Amino acid sequence: MVKAEGVHKSFGAAHILKGIDLEVAKGEVFCLIGPSGSGKSTFLRCINHLEQVSAGRLYVDGELVGYRQKGDKLYELKDSEVALKRRDIGMVFQRFNLFPHMTAMENVMEAPVQVRGESRAVARERAISLLDRVGLSDKAKNYPSQLSGGQQQRVAIARALAMEPKLMLFDEPTSALDPELVGDVLDVMRGLAEDGMTMIVVTHEMGFAREVGDALVFMDDGVVVESGHPRDVLTNPQHDRTKSFLSKVL
Ligand code: ATP
Ligand code: MG
Repeated sequence: MVKAEGVHKSFGAAHILKGIDLEVAKGEVFCLIGPSGSGKSTFLRCINHLEQVSAGRLYVDGELVGYRQKGDKLYELKDSEVALKRRDIGMVFQRFNLFPHMTAMENVMEAPVQVRGESRAVARERAISLLDRVGLSDKAKNYPSQLSGGQQQRVAIARALAMEPKLMLFDEPTSALDPELVGDVLDVMRGLAEDGMTMIVVTHEMGFAREVGDALVFMDDGVVVESGHPRDVLTNPQHDRTKSFLSKVL
C-alpha cells in the first residue's frame, strides 16, 4: 500500500529524511517510533502530499506521490490532481483539529458533502454509523468545545473515515490526551485494525504497538535504524540507538 525507496526530504539546508526505505502492506498496522525531531511527522506529511519529497520515490497504492512519471522524467502533479489523491488518505493529528463552529455530526458530514458532492441525506446516514462506530452516537449534536479531548479525537477519526480512505495515518493521536482518555481512542484504532484498515501509526504507546502492530520501525535522525515485528523490536532491540530510546520510553 505504501512503498518508500530512498526517500529524502530537505527544508532548505536542513536535511531531515535521509533515505527512507520501507514497505507497508495492505491491511497492515505499521507503527513508527523515534525521538522528537527524527522526521516521523515529516514522513507522514510526505505520504499525505503535505510535503513534497526532495529525492527518492514514494508510492501509495502503486502510484507515485506528488509526481507523474513519463519515460525517465518526473513532472510535478497539479494541485487539483494532488487534491484528488489526498481524498483516499485519512489523517489524524496529535491536536484535535475539528471545525469548532460545527457539531460532531456536521464535522463528519463536511468533506463528503463539500468535497465529494454527496447528498446530505447519504452523508448523514454514514455519519450516524461512523459516530456509532467510535462510540459517540449520543454526542452527535455536541460542538467540539462540549467534548472531551478523547471524544474530539474519536470524532476526528470518524471524520477521516467518512471519506472512505484506503489508508489512515495517525500522528501521535493520543499524546495530547489525559491518560484516562487514551484507552478509548486506542480501542477505536484497534477496531479499525481488526476491520482490515491499512494504518501507519506514529505513537509512544508501546502497548498498542506490541498488541496491534504488524510491523514496527524505529527511526532516528531521518533514517530507519531498525525494523521488524513489534514484539521482536521491543523485547530484543539490536541497535544501541534503539535500546537507548526504548529504555527511556518503556
Ligand atoms: P516529534 O516526535 O517531536 O513530533 P518528529 O519525529 O515528528 O518529532 P518532525 O516534525 O518530522 O519530527 O521534524 C523533523 C525535523 O524537521 C525537525 O528538526 C523540524 O524542525 C524540521 N522541520 C519540520 N517541518 C519543517 C518545515 N516546514 N520547515 C523547516 N524545518 C522543518
Ligand atoms: Mg511529530
